[in-house]
This record gives sequence, structure tokens and C-alpha cells, in this order.
Amino acid sequence: MRLGFFIAIILNLILCVPRPAAAGTLSVEGIRYGLNVGKTRVVIDLSGAADYRVFALGDPWRIVVDLPSARFAVSKSRSVSNATIKDYRSGMLDDGLTRIVFDLRRPAVLDQVFSLGGNGTLKDRLVMDLAPASENLFTARVGVIHGNKDLRGLGPAPTTSDFAGMQNETVRKAAPPERKPATAPEKYTIIIDAGHGGEDPGAQGAGSIKEKNITLAIAKELKRQLEETGRYRAVLTRSRDVFIRLRQRVEIARKEKGDLFVSIHADKIERTGVQGASIYTLSGTASDAETARLAEEENSAGIVAGVDLSAESQDVAGILLDLAMREKMNESNLLARFMEDAFRRESVKLLPNSHRSAGFAVLKAPDIPSVLIESGFLSNPEESRLLSSSAFQRRLSSAILQGIDAYFRKIKALEKI
Ligand code: ZN
Repeated sequence: MRLGFFIAIILNLILCVPRPAAAGTLSVEGIRYGLNVGKTRVVIDLSGAADYRVFALGDPWRIVVDLPSARFAVSKSRSVSNATIKDYRSGMLDDGLTRIVFDLRRPAVLDQVFSLGGNGTLKDRLVMDLAPASENLFTARVGVIHGNKDLRGLGPAPTTSDFAGMQNETVRKAAPPERKPATAPEKYTIIIDAGHGGEDPGAQGAGSIKEKNITLAIAKELKRQLEETGRYRAVLTRSRDVFIRLRQRVEIARKEKGDLFVSIHADKIERTGVQGASIYTLSGTASDAETARLAEEENSAGIVAGVDLSAESQDVAGILLDLAMREKMNESNLLARFMEDAFRRESVKLLPNSHRSAGFAVLKAPDIPSVLIESGFLSNPEESRLLSSSAFQRRLSSAILQGIDAYFRKIKALEKI
């Protein structure tokens, strides 16, 4: 059957035979993906309300969406690839159903599937949230049907034998869409981490200029500007000249439920001519001792990045944490890019290739997008003076704020779908 299905799709694609479209025929008008912390949201825009059937197929990992006979009016020019989904294909089944197959890069399970009615501005939508999962969990969910098992496109529902690996068919009611009551908009929590402190002065500039004092001054100014907007709650990892271990900084971020973590530093190198800021995100995957230890702790603590680890074996917990970490890295990179743009707009000098990555310990909170800003070089006399001036500290903070604003505008736009 699977082979037949693919042949049917290929024929449809090659011959491009348009099926006779009756008046009011359903059409698929858009497919969009959203970044959602720990999850991927897929939204299918439809021309009207429609029944649906959604399930997973393994080997390779796929999510299948069946709809009643529909015209496909999605522009293929838009990028349809993200960390979870490689691509999608669509075709017509023999019984008249329209099938969309999403090829996954990694195992992910359907966390919720629901439809939303159209209104003045938005179309009817079918929404699916995909949560990263272990291979075992994926396999366990294969064949679980969300939506209408007896979906009729123009023919009978498929039998179990129609789908390789499909077992234990059960029908699940689509979860109702979450509707938040209209309250005051939620504030995002930004963790601002002033580098060094106390017995650890960090880099030293000319005269008595110390990195730890510069970073604290910038951190305080940034907090002031963030809170002035009314959109953010800002938490400093230190508000005084005290020594704090790197691990504690990350723990504060997690305890305060930070939405973003911004660590402020200033650099120093031998060559005094070098100037400019750079923005670091964490490099590599999380498969190291640091993450392994976190995974161990979280096994007992419960939930990291919306992934319930207590129910999983130690091995699986490590894998899930790794996936959550990779998702977070995408968001950290997004934040770094927006910050770079804002730095340019505000004429904050940047190093060449100013977005860099390294294994900084403070960037390792697995569920909080994090960046580390090297705001300039104390080894450069000119920049050292600049970094010490409150006028520059205000300008730099304003640029960071603009980067954060742009990041959340993007995240919100993606979640609105
Ligand atoms: Zn530093």
C-alpha cells in the first residue's frame, strides 16, 4: 500500500491532473511552522472548516495529515524546513482524501492537535504541536489517530493494513484550543548577568578600570531600560560587587524562570588595536559532562523545557535534554542575530564575524535562550574609556533592548499562528 500511495502521489505530481473541483471545494492555503519553546507548532491554513485525521508513521519518522479532498494552493517558495521538520509532500489518495506527509528530522510526538475556526482576519486552521520525543516514545505513538478516524474524503477509512507499523488504533478527541482570558499582557523575564565580581575582577583596563565594574554598570542600565518599557521584568544575577560562581548564575536564571539570559562581559587581548563587541551563543551540542550532570539532577526534579523527564529512563532523559537544548540554541542564535542588527543600528562597533560560539558555562541553562555579550576591549584605550562612560552604557543597553524587543516580536508572530 505504501508503494501504491507514493506512486499515486508521484503520478499526481507528474501529471498534475486537477481533480474536478466542485463549488466550495476545500483548499489548503498555507503551511506554517512556529518556534515554540521545546515544541514545533505546525499550522495548516484551510479555506473552510474540515474534518481531519492526523497520525504518525515510523521508519522513517513521519506525521501524516489526511483531509477531505482538497485543492493544494500553497506556494512552495516558502522555506518549510526547521529543526524538527525536514520537508512535506502532498498528494491525493485513491479514495479521494488529500494527504500531507511531514518528514521529520528527529522523532517527535503529537502533543496536541486541534482546529480553529476562521474569523475576519484569520482562516480556518488545523494546528499541531510536535514535542521532541525518544524513538521509543515515537514508536509507541505510531498509529494513534487524532481527529476523525472515519474521515471520508470520498471513500472508506483506511484499515490497519493500509499503514505499515500502525497498531492499536484509538481515536482521540482533538483538544480544545487554549484561550487565554484577556488580562494584562504577561511580562517576559530577562535575566541580566553582570560578569565577574568580588575577588574576580575580570579583565583590567588602563588605570583602575575593571571589567567587573563595567559589566555591573551596564547590567543596571539595561535593567532600568527594560523595566521602563513595561514589557519586561529584569532580574540581575548580582547587583553588588560580589563573587558568584557560574553555576549559581544559571541556577538563578532557572529559579526566576527567565525567558532570556543575557550575560555581559568586556574583553582584553594582547593587541591593543582591536576594538568592537561580539555576541556569543553556546557551541556544539549538549552531549557533555555538564549536560549529563544536569540530566541526572533533572531526572528527580521533573520537568525541563516542558519535557517531563521523571517518566523517562536516564538514557532517554539525556536524549530529551539534548533535543530541548538544540531547540534552545536555535532561539539563542535568533536572539544574537537581532542583537547584531540592533548594535549596527545604534552604531555600536562590532568585531568582524561578531556572532560567535563557545562553550561558556553560563550559557548552559537547557531551557533558556542565552547569549553572552563581549561589549568591547578594555585592552584598547579608546574603547576602555568608551565602556566606562555612562553615555555609551546607555547606548549599548538601548541596542540590547532593541535586540530583545525584535526577538520577542518574532517569537510572538510565530506563536500567533
Ligand atoms: Zn568576562
